[in-house]
Amino acid sequence: MFYWDNAATTFPKPHAVRKAMAQALMRYGANPGRGGHAMAYATSEAVYRCRETAAELFGADGPERVVFTLNCTMAMNIVLKGLLANGGNAVISDVEHNAVLRPLHALSTQKHVTYTTVPVSLDDPAETVRRFEKAVTADTRVIVCSHVSNVFGVIQPIRQIGAIAREHHIPFVVDAAQSAGVLPLDMVRDNIDFLCIAGHKGVYGPMGTGMLLTSGRYALPSFIEGGTGSRSMDPRQPDDLPDHLESGTPNTVGICGLYAGMQFVKTVGIAHIYERELAHIVAVYRALENTQGIQLYTPCPTAGRFAPVLSYNVAGVPSEKTAALLSEAGVAVRAGLHCAPLAHLKMGTQGGGTVRLAPCVFTTEDETQKVIKILRQTAQKALQT
Ligand code: PMP
Repeated sequence: MFYWDNAATTFPKPHAVRKAMAQALMRYGANPGRGGHAMAYATSEAVYRCRETAAELFGADGPERVVFTLNCTMAMNIVLKGLLANGGNAVISDVEHNAVLRPLHALSTQKHVTYTTVPVSLDDPAETVRRFEKAVTADTRVIVCSHVSNVFGVIQPIRQIGAIAREHHIPFVVDAAQSAGVLPLDMVRDNIDFLCIAGHKGVYGPMGTGMLLTSGRYALPSFIEGGTGSRSMDPRQPDDLPDHLESGTPNTVGICGLYAGMQFVKTVGIAHIYERELAHIVAVYRALENTQGIQLYTPCPTAGRFAPVLSYNVAGVPSEKTAALLSEAGVAVRAGLHCAPLAHLKMGTQGGGTVRLAPCVFTTEDETQKVIKILRQTAQKALQT
């Protein structure tokens, strides 16, 4: 099977990740911060190492500013529900995932929360920045932007959007689910206050891992309260991070896998990963644009403007049908709306969604050529049946 569904979750995970998780069950089998013995200390250290690595990889000011979550969605909920607890306006892009849209919608039905969607430009990042600037009002409490659209791959100029947030003294939240591990990210340089990451995608951790990194500039209320292994006589949730936002026994096995995943990404190099994956996507794009009956929605991906995620359709054929035919032919992809209705509304694909292709660090040129052949054959078959 050729796995091109890496925008949903990366597969396979590197050998080092699988090994780290198996070892964690043996070496770090105690509860971190909740035992006065050597294995509990060793487990705490393993968890801490993961925080250190994340802080270093994403430019957070210290390991304590790294909060472990279940996934990117949970990180986004912690931030949005905290920042908008007293109401206010959120400015978001018009390619946001449901991880942003649904918490905002829920807030808008319960509290005095509104949200403004800013249409991003596919070909002019400076225009996108101007539109964000215009959308900010006195009521705006937060700007949220996906670094990369998980459907169309377009990269947003987050550093410049972050600069607007900074100017207006409001927090800037970046959804890096589709970019962490593939594009460079630095919280300081990119003016990011809250960075939401899916551990199971481009940083090659297991599913059930995610992270929220904070600049420390803005405080959040606690999200779930409970045992932290610290200040246990005090019924109030500790104020210090990460305990303020983490309660209960953590996913130590997942965190050890996530650590190994981030080390893997560091070793291979983010620039190298991006360059390779983009080359695969460009090869696919070039082949598809010359194939009869194929509909593409974006210009040919160029470095710096697009991430290695490509949506297409066989004209007049439901995306699910194409995906099913591809699956029969040995290519795994995702069809439909990809949990990002706004992006589809923007591109006019809300009816049937799109077929989404996403390679990973393990994709080879040979595999890409085989996949291209199958994509073309499948398109012809879909058109004939
Ligand atoms: N935002 C974007 C842009 C995504 O692509 C995804 C995952 N598809 C999410 C948020 C949610 O991530 P998770 O599944 O880790 O909660």
